[in-house]
Amino acid sequence: MNSATTAAGPSSSLSTNHGLPVPITVARGDGIGPEIMDATLRILAAAGARLAIEEIEIGEKVYARGNTAGIDPASWDSLRRTKVFLKAPITTPQGGGVKSLNVTTRKAMGLYANVRPCAAYAPFVPTRHPKMNVVIIRENEEDTYAGIEHQQTDEVVQCLKLISRPGCERIVRYAFEYALQNGRKKVTCFTKDNIMKLTDGLFHKVFDEIGAEYPQLEKEHWIVDIGAAKLADSPEEFDVVVMPNLYGDILSDVAAQLTGSVGLAGSSNIGSQCAMFEAIHGSAPRRAGKDSANPSGLLHGAILMLIHIGQSDIAEKVHNAWLRTIEDGVHTDDIYREGTSSKRVGTRAFADAVIARLGQAPVKLAAVRYQNTATRTSSATRRPRATKELIGVDVFLHWDEADRDPRQLGARLERVAAGLNDVRLKMISNRGVKVYPDGFPETFCTDHWRCRFVSTTAEAPISFDTVLQILGAVHAAKLEVIKTEHLYRFNGVKSYSLGQGE
Ligand code: NAD
Repeated sequence: MNSATTAAGPSSSLSTNHGLPVPITVARGDGIGPEIMDATLRILAAAGARLAIEEIEIGEKVYARGNTAGIDPASWDSLRRTKVFLKAPITTPQGGGVKSLNVTTRKAMGLYANVRPCAAYAPFVPTRHPKMNVVIIRENEEDTYAGIEHQQTDEVVQCLKLISRPGCERIVRYAFEYALQNGRKKVTCFTKDNIMKLTDGLFHKVFDEIGAEYPQLEKEHWIVDIGAAKLADSPEEFDVVVMPNLYGDILSDVAAQLTGSVGLAGSSNIGSQCAMFEAIHGSAPRRAGKDSANPSGLLHGAILMLIHIGQSDIAEKVHNAWLRTIEDGVHTDDIYREGTSSKRVGTRAFADAVIARLGQAPVKLAAVRYQNTATRTSSATRRPRATKELIGVDVFLHWDEADRDPRQLGARLERVAAGLNDVRLKMISNRGVKVYPDGFPETFCTDHWRCRFVSTTAEAPISFDTVLQILGAVHAAKLEVIKTEHLYRFNGVKSYSLGQGE
């Protein structure tokens, strides 16, 4: 790792006469990474960005040394020190227990908000949606990306979808703050809370609660399936869109593609202490070393970084020079079109063209204006513990006997419950569908069964000792328990899903 190095050489810093250089960590990455990073840093230097750069090595070479994280421990020191990371794409080796560096970095540095502006540059970059200018704000740490998966039976694997109230509050507040800060008018939320009433339901609820604090902004919620269709069909009707991790992962790529090229978009990953900025595309290994890659995605990441570190004046200068370059028709291979483009250039010449236009504004495309502040982040808030009552337990079984007839399993579990005090079997479900009592013979059953036990007194609390007795009795009946989930009432409200048909 070199301390304070720049594209211009070691131990120099990109600075102007106003303000101290801001320490940042830079990684040149793999494939086209070094070329587009070089182009980006040259533009930033020419624009007068005040940066003190520390370089770290990540990606292929680090993985090849047997480091499955793709980043050396010493590099974390730089990231913890500067708290700002400008990262070129890396090549992720296939298989071999290798961990995604992006996911690791996001989680280790607490980067909870992924922000991806997706704007059309028509007619200079052809798109069916010339008016689109949407920002996707994706929750970055939770949801199924907690990565907690288990195989439970021969036939069934599960992935836990974890959504927390502090996680929802931070991302939703960030989206509203971002909208205010950037002069946006509307914030839309996508969830699937008609199905996932607790997890996505919480995200939607927090959106409504926090949205009420921003009366000046328009708010709307769409179920993600129809919302995604609408976004793909008429993206110009959206402004800022906030959503849980998985939907955001998919739809931020859709939105970037709709602008005409994934090669143009940058993104930021923001936490309350650290931030990471990058292009959205990968390392494009086949283009590496050919001076043909478009550096615009990484440059857009760098523009977001300049705003984040309080150098909006430079961000504005760079972005407007870039817009001018695009409308002058100076285009790299990926966006070059006969008739629209005037000059086909390589990576280096594109950077030179942007540098030559620093100080100029676009004439046909709208010029950008940036305020000199980053979007406010908030730390997670803690609430007092709720009143919590245990009112039952779901015991999950691996069972594949008796042709998987739910009535057979039901009869055995009824006998188990009869041998216990104050416990009854309420229902059995298979993949969420109630199959006992009164199931349909048509329902396909796997070897994974959820058996719900509650008190014989309607909705009365049970004790944890009762849960242990149920488990002991089920085990004694030679049935294989694979896991349990407790059924709780929080502040008097039942806080678990019902079986379909329960
Ligand atoms: P990719 O984004 O690298 O390439 C997809 C296509 O887009 C290719 O045709 C490529 O030539 C083109 N392209 C991408 N960026 C371009 C640019 N700046 N200029 C011109 N054309 C460009 O995706 P991929 O091929 O699926 O992945 C290649 C490698 O990158 C893989 O190892 C993948 O794991 C990795 N990757 C890394 C990141 C990251 O570091 N953030 C993100 C995505 C993929």
